[in-house]
Amino acid sequence: MKAIEAGNIEGEVLPPGVPGYDDARRVFNGMIDRQPALIVRCANESDVARSLDLARRHSLQVAVRGGGHNVAGNAVCDGGLVIDLSRMRRVELEPMRRRARVQGGATWGDLDTATQAHGLATPGGVVSSTGVAGLTLGGGIGVLRGLYGLTCDNLVGAELVTATGERVSTSADENPDLLWGLRGGGGNFGVVTTFEFALHPLGSVVSGLLDFAHSRDFLKFYDEFAAGAPDELALSPAGDPVASVFACFCGSEAAAAPVFDRLRSGFAPLRDGLATRSYVESQRMLDAISPWGVRNFWKTNAMGPLTSLAIEAFDEVFMSAKSPASQVQLEHLHGAMHRTPPGANAASFAGAKYNLLVNAKWTDPARDEENIRWARDGFALLQPHLSSGAYTNYLVQEPRERVRQAYGAETFDRLVALKDRYDPTNVFRLNQNIPPSGD
Ligand SMILES: Cc1cc2nc3c(=O)[nH]c(=O)nc-3n(C[C@H](O)[C@H](O)[C@H](O)COP(=O)(O)OP(=O)(O)OC[C@H]3O[C@@H](n4cnc5c(N)ncnc54)[C@H](O)[C@@H]3O)c2cc1C
Repeated sequence: MKAIEAGNIEGEVLPPGVPGYDDARRVFNGMIDRQPALIVRCANESDVARSLDLARRHSLQVAVRGGGHNVAGNAVCDGGLVIDLSRMRRVELEPMRRRARVQGGATWGDLDTATQAHGLATPGGVVSSTGVAGLTLGGGIGVLRGLYGLTCDNLVGAELVTATGERVSTSADENPDLLWGLRGGGGNFGVVTTFEFALHPLGSVVSGLLDFAHSRDFLKFYDEFAAGAPDELALSPAGDPVASVFACFCGSEAAAAPVFDRLRSGFAPLRDGLATRSYVESQRMLDAISPWGVRNFWKTNAMGPLTSLAIEAFDEVFMSAKSPASQVQLEHLHGAMHRTPPGANAASFAGAKYNLLVNAKWTDPARDEENIRWARDGFALLQPHLSSGAYTNYLVQEPRERVRQAYGAETFDRLVALKDRYDPTNVFRLNQNIPPSGD
């Protein structure tokens, strides 16, 4: 292929073969191994516009990279151009106004560190290397969701470069329909170069990992099953016969004490890692169990309260995992995130109690099929117990109908109308795609 002349780009330009190219095309999910024709590590907004122009002139597909965490791997593409924002990580604070302006390549580690220096925070993800951009644009579920809602509920403004290179701003007073779309509609409307967030006061938190013995019923079943297993069958604990819970109380030790006393006396933990920590430390606690390069395949949906049949199905999925690193997660959804009126943002969990994630994680490529099958089959088993809607940030590559289902028809149709205005030729298609109406 002919070399692409990158012209006046001020950031780094990485074609295949140059030092740094292989590092730059890596994303969090080890399953993703794509070879773009060009990676542009933009230095500023003008570079973003120039990159889009370059892609247009060379008919290259465009991928946009924030923190590179998305498991679908849409931050990188084969043969196209990656607009990589990882050099654009500036955070500017206005503590008196309780506002933060954050560039599109910042991570939650960058933002939490900056806001906590002033005793402030905005709800963000729980792993510090996750990108602010992708997480916010898909919704954002963090430990502050009960107090202050989803991350996108706290997004008060943004600056974008659209597919034609135009710069557009949005806030409650300026293009408010676009702000609605950015609160959950993903990277469908342009490259967000700056996000503006509302901040809230936050001191230390009480948090940590608590391990509980998995359900008695399950252990009885497992025990009986193992006793009847033939010589040929070796049983390893599937995942781990221990339920690990990450708990975080966003308030004072005195207020946390009666809450955690109730929890401990209701079901005694095998291991109790709760302690008072700074928010920044707490937000890094799960980094070690979320390493880059591990193979990941996810299935997800919203879920209501657990019935006894759902618990049985849950146990079965949990115990049949093919890798000790795999997890079945039930994120509890509650409080402020449910007080945002329905339809106020593109992301909504419609009152669901849990966000279910069947998360297959493994390292050996030879075991792809069995791990993917476990997640798919497990999800199918849980299907009768699910409610409506799904978190688009946890979706892998799925058919268009699944994306529509995840948003719900009404929100999806409103997003399509917005797409028609801001990206009618679907330049930004490597995402949980909202197709323009003619597509
Ligand atoms: C270990 C781990 C922990 C996680 N924890 C949480 C959590 O606590 N809470 C939660 O809600 N989610 C969590 N997630 C899911 C996370 O929200 C998504 O993976 C999200 O897409 C990550 O954003 P990113 O910028 O890192 O991803 P990227 O892969 O860089 O981007 C994802 C997509 O977002 C779009 N995009 C990225 N940057 C921009 C931009 N500047 N402008 C326009 N579009 C852009 C593009 O379409 C891109 O394909 C986690 C994921 C992982 C792997």
